[in-house]
Amino acid sequence: MADCIFCMIGNHDIPSNVAYEDDQIIAFHDLEPQAPVHVLVIPKKHITGLDDVKEEDKELMGHIMFKIHEIAADLGLENGYRVVSNNGEDAFQTVKHLHFHILGKRKMTWPPG
Ligand code: AMP
Ligand code: ZN
Repeated sequence: MADCIFCMIGNHDIPSNVAYEDDQIIAFHDLEPQAPVHVLVIPKKHITGLDDVKEEDKELMGHIMFKIHEIAADLGLENGYRVVSNNGEDAFQTVKHLHFHILGKRKMTWPPG
């Protein structure tokens, strides 16, 4: 989709720091990391967000979910990680192209001490 920054990244029209890529998805490091490891996983197909997922996207969605643990392992996140997808205005979704944040190596505030 024209004017979509993540479509441009998927097409390699603009550069990104790629962590994983295949014909359907690309994972790249976030420009403004919120954790020591912060990677975004996106479908190359333009899907606005989870509300825009169609029946025909079921296999693609399964592929994304299946690949996340492999990408996390390659990033050295054997001790755990969070996966977040912000959807819509109330979730402060800023880029209107479906993406899953992988967040790892964040210093834990719990348990205390
Ligand atoms: P959100 O839409 O709030 O779930 O988050 C969008 C994320 O995309 C933010 O964490 C941004 O830092 C990140 N971001 C925006 N543009 C780029 C880019 N060109 N390369 C890498 N990350 C980006
Ligand atoms: Zn897009």
